[in-house]
Amino acid sequence: MNRREFFKRTGASIAAGTLLGANVLGAETKNEDGQKELLGKILNYNPNMQYRLMGRTGVKVSALGFGMLRLPILSDGKVDFDQSVAMVRRAVEGGVNYIDTGRVYLNGQSEQVVGEALSGGLRDRVYVTSKSPWWIMEQPEDFEKFFDESRRAMKTDVIDFYHIHMIMHRGWKEKVIPYRLIEKMEKLKSDGKIRFMGFSFHDRLQLFKKVLDASSGWDFCLIQHNYLDYEYESGVLGPKYAAANGMGVAVMKPVRTGLLADLPQSMRKALYSTGIKKSDVEWALDYLWDIPEVGVVVSGMNSLDDVEANLKYAAKARPNMLNPDERKALGEAIRAFRQIPGHIDCTGCYQCIPCPQNVAIGYIFAYVYNNYLVHQNMKRALADYTVSMSPIQRGAPASDCTGCGACLNRCPQGLDIPKLLARVKETMGK
Ligand code: SF4
Ligand code: SF4
Repeated sequence: MNRREFFKRTGASIAAGTLLGANVLGAETKNEDGQKELLGKILNYNPNMQYRLMGRTGVKVSALGFGMLRLPILSDGKVDFDQSVAMVRRAVEGGVNYIDTGRVYLNGQSEQVVGEALSGGLRDRVYVTSKSPWWIMEQPEDFEKFFDESRRAMKTDVIDFYHIHMIMHRGWKEKVIPYRLIEKMEKLKSDGKIRFMGFSFHDRLQLFKKVLDASSGWDFCLIQHNYLDYEYESGVLGPKYAAANGMGVAVMKPVRTGLLADLPQSMRKALYSTGIKKSDVEWALDYLWDIPEVGVVVSGMNSLDDVEANLKYAAKARPNMLNPDERKALGEAIRAFRQIPGHIDCTGCYQCIPCPQNVAIGYIFAYVYNNYLVHQNMKRALADYTVSMSPIQRGAPASDCTGCGACLNRCPQGLDIPKLLARVKETMGK
């Protein structure tokens, strides 16, 4: 069944607000005909893929989502279009029905790949997403401009899952609220231009709750989570809090921007102690699929081999899939990570902000520096540091710290923040 037939047959008129009830698609049935009917209501159903309910949207999404940020790049710096299109098509053939992209991903090329890959009949077999980037908006009207650009690039009139991209304290205060972006999202939804409204998030749990409380129209959220970051940002409580509010939960960065796809020996040893053979990536994905509240795990894929491996892992992506030994082994792996010499015991709780210099303290400690310590690969670490930071998004680098001490008594871990920032600057040069 394609997407149009799906909505037609189920009578799901989004504009009229009559979505499928979560109980319909989430229901279990012992009757074989009933079971077949339920499966027929899943978009792009493939028996080798697992599908999970996406909160109050009422739709079932593939446990594996295609993350469109890490597409293969050619030597001239442009996206390898042919290869990327082939990857998306193979994923759809394998049962993936959730494509995650954003207006700014790969300078707009990511959305273009989506448009091309889904042309010729595949658009109706998947849910497409995109994200509205507040940090490049100069005026409120830019919201509509970016939305139309996304639709054009992806060759679609309707975007199924649309996000406010990367909500964090600064953007919330400086753009999301004054530019009335939430009201704009609600209008897109009531006009039928998007099916579901949500946001991607990069900040602490307090702000997460505030965002959720700001609209009754939220359908889903996209949060960063992995087994090392059970406290970082919204942490392990994020999916539970969102699900308790009826929202669908998508999770991004399952391998922590590559770190969990290439583990140091100490962590691998802890995982191997189970006697279970799994790749590093498989451990990371299984941890997330084990969480019942998680709908879709968005995995950035870089090659056809990645697509094949991810499809294979997703075939068994069930809630509560880990056994006690596997859970224990993940705990041991976390301990091994924390014991890497020089590790800064920052949980990324963000309680040290605001900093008068806007230094991205938690991000620099928990992500940039601790990641660097694992492989000691300065080139890769500096690339991450540069690409992922900007004054308006994450904040300023360690070198901007003036040592004023305003953050000192705010850290629940008792970290000497200025001293540690000086160490980061000395090691990484900024
Ligand atoms: S000591 Fe450095 S990081 Fe802390 S508040 Fe002052 S400038 Fe910011
Ligand atoms: S430095 Fe301390 S307060 Fe700041 S994010 Fe890390 S743990 Fe939290």
